[in-house]
Amino acid sequence: MRLILLGPPGAGKGTQAQRLVEKHGIPQLSTGDMLRAAVQAGTEVGKRAKAVMDAGELVSDAIVNAIVAERIDQADCAKGFILDGYPRTLVQADAVESMLSERGIGLDTVVELVVDDRALVGRIVKRAEDAKAAGQPVRKDDNPAVFEERLREYYKKTAPLTGYYYAKGKLKTVDGMASIDAVTAEIEGVLTAAGKAR
Ligand code: AMP
Repeated sequence: MRLILLGPPGAGKGTQAQRLVEKHGIPQLSTGDMLRAAVQAGTEVGKRAKAVMDAGELVSDAIVNAIVAERIDQADCAKGFILDGYPRTLVQADAVESMLSERGIGLDTVVELVVDDRALVGRIVKRAEDAKAAGQPVRKDDNPAVFEERLREYYKKTAPLTGYYYAKGKLKTVDGMASIDAVTAEIEGVLTAAGKAR
């Protein structure tokens, strides 16, 4: 199963992706996690991405496309994968199409978590508080000021992807304001229906 999770920052993509990993045994490919790992490791990519990420802007398409192209060739992706936070621009969406068709594989479904923007800042602040309480590092971009920029980037560059995938007949929307369990159940329903339609 190859799946894309769409939605603004704080919509719950990461949480739901982790549940899908457990249930379906396929990896979560989070470009945000991969970029943070590169920053942490001090690689060339990490050095180029750090300031952009801290400002809440998007890293260049070329960088993220290259990271994903390399990652999907790893053995654990053979049975499928969940793309979390990627693609985020129309250029990236076209890149996914090419990557998959070059490998003779396709995309099953795109699930959009639909959320109320007004709830998002609160979720981000809570995520930062929870990380701190658990003794984990707090993301530099999980604060209200940077969040506003992340949301602007989302509307400018990522929101058009819902139309892109709708036009391809791939888009399924899920109520991201429901409880975590209810969202998981709704996603499972979408995946079951998509599996039957294949
Ligand atoms: P995330 O963890 O998905 O919220 O991503 C954190 C940050 O990493 C974003 O605000 C961007 O700066 C960068 N990033 C993650 N994924 C992408 C992507 N697909 N395209 C461009 N930048 C990305």
